[in-house]
Amino acid sequence: MINRKVKEISEILKKINEAGFEVAVVGGAVRDIIAGNQVSDWDVTTNARPEEVQKIFPKSFYNNSFGTVTIPLGPAQNIEVTTYRTESSYTDKRHPSHVEWGSSLEEDLTRRDFTINAISLPFNKGEFDTKFIDPYRGEEDFKKKIIKAVGNANARFNEDALRMMRAIRFATTLGFEIEPKTVAAIKKNAKSINKISGERIRDELFKIIDSEDAASGILLLREVGLLKEILPELDGCFDVSQISPKRHHIFDVGTHNVMSLANCPSRDTIVRFATLLHDVGKAKVANVTEEGIRTFYNHEVVGGRIALKIADRLHLSKDQKEQLFLLVRWHQFTVSENQTDKALRRFIKNIGIGNIENMMDLRVGDRLGGGLQQPESWRLKLFRQRLKEVLKKPFTVRDLAVGGSDVMKVLGIGPGPKVGEILNKLFDEVADEKGKNTREYLLKRIKTF
Ligand code: ATP
Ligand code: MG
Repeated sequence: MINRKVKEISEILKKINEAGFEVAVVGGAVRDIIAGNQVSDWDVTTNARPEEVQKIFPKSFYNNSFGTVTIPLGPAQNIEVTTYRTESSYTDKRHPSHVEWGSSLEEDLTRRDFTINAISLPFNKGEFDTKFIDPYRGEEDFKKKIIKAVGNANARFNEDALRMMRAIRFATTLGFEIEPKTVAAIKKNAKSINKISGERIRDELFKIIDSEDAASGILLLREVGLLKEILPELDGCFDVSQISPKRHHIFDVGTHNVMSLANCPSRDTIVRFATLLHDVGKAKVANVTEEGIRTFYNHEVVGGRIALKIADRLHLSKDQKEQLFLLVRWHQFTVSENQTDKALRRFIKNIGIGNIENMMDLRVGDRLGGGLQQPESWRLKLFRQRLKEVLKKPFTVRDLAVGGSDVMKVLGIGPGPKVGEILNKLFDEVADEKGKNTREYLLKRIKTF
């Protein structure tokens, strides 16, 4: 529990006490304290109303209707102070129809989702109490590595369907089991996840995808019936076999996608997500030839379209959507020692320079996730090396030794699309023969248009 932030946090909690209010640490911070980890995010609960908390901390902000005030605590570090609540009426499986402030810490703990999240550590007179307030035996469950709903699981998921995603997320990130009744209640209520906004589902899904054991998390989502609701396109891939004569694939498409994520070396969420989705188009285009060979023609094109749909549904940002699309759309690149520089350049142009390493990470995941033993073949290594070399050569039209004004002057034409067309043609011509990229040669060439 001792770390450099504890002093800062203590000062803040002390101020709340001194203003005459109760205060206790809850949530992830308590889990960290029990586990002996550094606390990363501090969640705090108090009987002070949001306005009163804001009065104590003028730099804090209050931007939602759930009674949470955020106090900035340095770079990317916040303290979230939430007023005691009681949640009586849920009408839409999303949020309580109104928030009522609670009168005690114990009452506040009853509205929390899981026993491991309903433990609190009060702070009094300048120091933390020596005992947790833990009416649902969350510490015991934490030590047994169990996720268990507070109270009646079915009722709790019926109140707020996002809790089902949270259960899978905590099970995945913490490496815990979900208690059987809680699992059964998730299975029963899985469909109601559709009541939750794409953003909130995405946030939980991305935490699962980012975690060390992301693959188990996705399989768990599938087992409880949530994957079918949030990513039906991926869920459908588990029925698509890939076993075929002369092919190395040993898994069905869904399992292969998940195994690829498990083996993807990237820590970037979108790259990992793209790896999980890379073969998602296969379910739609699967076919078997007369010789019994399975084919998946154009699956990357179909997959790209599916990725765009998923990105919209989960409200990814414009950049995230673009990157997800590009990685899925172009993942099926071939690597061969006979490829021309031009082909390599086209590949780079398609995905963007910034995605080269990301695409390699997807490919490494794809290979290992398909049962191959080596992360990279000699061909892939050579391909990487050649990409580097190609990047050093003239690469875009802007690197040509002539420009638009030369084209206009030589041909006596004004600005217009023709100028660009000619430049592109010149570029194509010199791209493979670097020696031709001289003013002398190109000015002569322009005359022939
Ligand atoms: P982490 O910060 O690692 O995501 P956390 O447990 O701190 O984990 P938060 O989302 O920060 O989770 O929420 C803080 C606490 O608020 C939780 O521990 C839980 O007690 C409560 N909580 C959050 N969301 C819900 C919910 N949908 N239903 C019930 N209680 C919730
Ligand atoms: Mg938290």
